[in-house]
Amino acid sequence: MQFDNVWKLFAAQAESAAAVRGLSLDITDRELLVILGPSGCGKTTALRMVAGLEEPDRGDIRIGGKSVVGLEPKDRDVALVFQSYALYPHLSAQENIRYPLKVRGLSRAEQDRKVARVADMLGIGRLLPRRPGQLSGGEQQRVALARAIVREPRVFLMDEPLSNLDAKLRVHTRTELKTLQRELGTTMVFVTHDQAEAMSLANRIAVLNAGELQQIGTPDEVYDHPANVFVAEFIGSPPMNLLKATRDGGDLVVAGGWRLPAPKRGSAIDSAGTELTVGLRPEGVQIVAGGQPAEVVAVEPFGSEVIIDVRVNGEAIKVRAAPDVRPEPGRKVGLRVDPAAVRVFDNSSGDALN
Ligand code: ATP
Repeated sequence: MQFDNVWKLFAAQAESAAAVRGLSLDITDRELLVILGPSGCGKTTALRMVAGLEEPDRGDIRIGGKSVVGLEPKDRDVALVFQSYALYPHLSAQENIRYPLKVRGLSRAEQDRKVARVADMLGIGRLLPRRPGQLSGGEQQRVALARAIVREPRVFLMDEPLSNLDAKLRVHTRTELKTLQRELGTTMVFVTHDQAEAMSLANRIAVLNAGELQQIGTPDEVYDHPANVFVAEFIGSPPMNLLKATRDGGDLVVAGGWRLPAPKRGSAIDSAGTELTVGLRPEGVQIVAGGQPAEVVAVEPFGSEVIIDVRVNGEAIKVRAAPDVRPEPGRKVGLRVDPAAVRVFDNSSGDALN
């Protein structure tokens, strides 16, 4: 399916503040595409336009090569799952799941067969007789998922469907959802503001900010080669260290005199002037004997890793290290940077230069 230069302006929104601004995305069949961005960036609006709950002011949305703009929601062959489960409270789980099949006029036997199959797939067989009020949030969300899956739509649209679940169930359900999507082979567009959820689920991530697409790529691509400083800061926990830098010949100088090994020089870096921004992932910086002097400020253990806060000439940098690396706060350490891990951004546009 495609978004082709899609714009959405709500009443009183200036063009420059449109909810969705010229969005173009080419989503491959069977792909799990995650739209990721902060609150208010237009993710939900983009999804609602696919579902037919909003119409674009400009541009086209195509499913299976055909424009769906102007079609009734029910004629779009998509299934939307929200954060809130929107189940019918007076119907049992079974009747909730059955509902779309009933509307479609399938025989009772066919309805039963499909409901049983999807209930089995999601492991909710024993919940079928219960009403939503007798189910936990996680169970209700499974019933809502089952109701979407049973329709066998062309596209699943998921709007933060896991955000009401507790942390453990959320991680469990997202693994299941990913497996299920692959098994069903149905294209899925999944909206979230949670970068970890996006990284773990997506075939590709489309990062949105203020209604505009910032980057689309695999989780590895957006993590390793963020297109701009927004993506660099939004993806990764802790985020990429961003340091003001000066280009001095072939060197990049940061934090009051730390000379970094320059990444392979490209003409974009050479012609960008002398004031730049350098990006270093926390794991791209190592604590070594020798190296750039730094002072340890704090050590945050996370079990499988430690995040070490250091300062270089007063500039704060986060370093990711193995769990047994535990320098005392106040101690002096040395830092080293892998040249391949140095990202460089233009200071005025924020765009990546390498
Ligand atoms: P969140 O993660 O908080 O749900 P979002 O990225 O999904 O945010 P949208 O709900 O798509 O963001 O909203 C995008 C922008 O459009 C916001 O500035 C929002 O206030 C505005 N907006 C959304 N719906 C309407 C509406 N019906 N009328 C007016 N403005 C709206």
